[in-house]
Amino acid sequence: MKKRIYGLENEFGIAFTSHGRRTLPSEKVVRYLFEKLITTEGFLNVFLENGARFYLDTGCHPEYATPECASPLDVTIYDKAGERILENLLQYAQGKVREEGFHGNLAIFKNNTDFVGNSYGCHENYLAERTSDFYYMAEQLIPFLVTRQIFTGAGKVFRTRRGTVFHISQRAQHIRQKISGTTTNERSIINTRDEPHAIKEKYRRLHIIVGDSNMSEYTTYLKVGTTAIILEMIEDDFITPNFSLRNPVRAIKDISRDLTCREQVPLNNGKKYSALELQKEYLELAHRYYSTRQKSEMVTDILDKWEEVLTKLEEDPMQLHRKVDWVTKMNLLKAYGERTKQPSETSGDRMLMLDLQYHDIRRDKGLYYLLERKDKVERVTTDEAIDKAMVDPPQNTRAKMRGELIKLAKMKRIPYDLDWNYIRIGYLLNLWVKCNDPFQEENEKVTQLKRRIERSNFKYGYLL
Ligand code: ATP
Ligand code: MG
Ligand code: MG
Repeated sequence: MKKRIYGLENEFGIAFTSHGRRTLPSEKVVRYLFEKLITTEGFLNVFLENGARFYLDTGCHPEYATPECASPLDVTIYDKAGERILENLLQYAQGKVREEGFHGNLAIFKNNTDFVGNSYGCHENYLAERTSDFYYMAEQLIPFLVTRQIFTGAGKVFRTRRGTVFHISQRAQHIRQKISGTTTNERSIINTRDEPHAIKEKYRRLHIIVGDSNMSEYTTYLKVGTTAIILEMIEDDFITPNFSLRNPVRAIKDISRDLTCREQVPLNNGKKYSALELQKEYLELAHRYYSTRQKSEMVTDILDKWEEVLTKLEEDPMQLHRKVDWVTKMNLLKAYGERTKQPSETSGDRMLMLDLQYHDIRRDKGLYYLLERKDKVERVTTDEAIDKAMVDPPQNTRAKMRGELIKLAKMKRIPYDLDWNYIRIGYLLNLWVKCNDPFQEENEKVTQLKRRIERSNFKYGYLL
């Protein structure tokens, strides 16, 4: 697998309810979430000791963006670490709300839509060489991204005039365009914003905004892993067949509605493929691509898992109830339906609630975590790895320098200001180091700076 930087951003839904009704505005509650991390008023935006970024996004959604990771597995671990960090902040915020005399339930959901139809995203970031033409790359990627939902979707219950229905993807219904410049209006599959947070002449940061937020570690890992494999094949000009879809925006919705994964969608060349058939074509290409190349253990693992999910989707998707989010959720809903046998009106409301509760990040309350506790879902990481990732940055990207400096600055109580590609530190923020290479975990200037801080005496309150 090519050396690459991966990052995942998740916007979360937040709600404070008392007896089932919202009793405090999210704008107020969300301030308590940040209170422990930020002592000053103003913009809610902070980098954490593990190198990640936590901030308040538009629409009052807290967002956690993983540090730069060097593999699909690492980014899966750091994504989960984000959930745990939020879970801790939530406990603190819940206490503060109670102190203010409000009694109720504060919850955070890792999903992509609320009850009134707003959508918020999960962004995937992949570092790519600038040598490949962006539009060529996007065109090649789109058919893959539109069809991969059959094993990456998080599942969604919708209420329609004809009753309650279940779709594969949360995000698909909100996609309006193939490619666009913004992420909130005109939601698209790929975003064109050219902000590499790295050496601009050399790199691009591909910003994919079409995916669902996943609860399942297995699904996240497979989503990022297969996408990285496709990206590598595109960069090497290996994908020669033209799979471009006649209407990708329509296809993504049609595929999301089709739980058999077999309904065909038209391609530009007049042929028709189902999501399953197209994915099988991609997998076949990947096998061919790696038949003449060195394969890392992780590539072998991703290819095996990809093959297994496609085979099982073809035989009977329900076999994947331990592995693929939308199937796990559907299995849960089915079991509930069979157990209760309620009339469809009341069960519709309950289904919507169960759908939401699946995404509750509290490990003692969320339905995904209920299944995890009972060992009913497959994992790809461990609690130990996640706990470590909550406090320590990845050791093989520039996030290492960021995380270490944050720890040091906090210990010595020195002000700092950061972004993905720079560090400013000191009482006047006058020491400034650019970190434009995301692969570089060490940088001479940062090492010197760290040494200076370690050795310095700050008792006079100003800097070095
Ligand atoms: P928005 O919230 O508007 O989407 P954004 O996409 O610019 O903003 P952030 O929310 O700050 O950015 O998240 C950036 C993500 O990109 C992080 O997960 C980070 O680890 C990752 N990242 C940073 N630099 C690179 C890079 N050079 N290549 C790939 N990923 C990167
Ligand atoms: Mg973001
Ligand atoms: Mg983003």
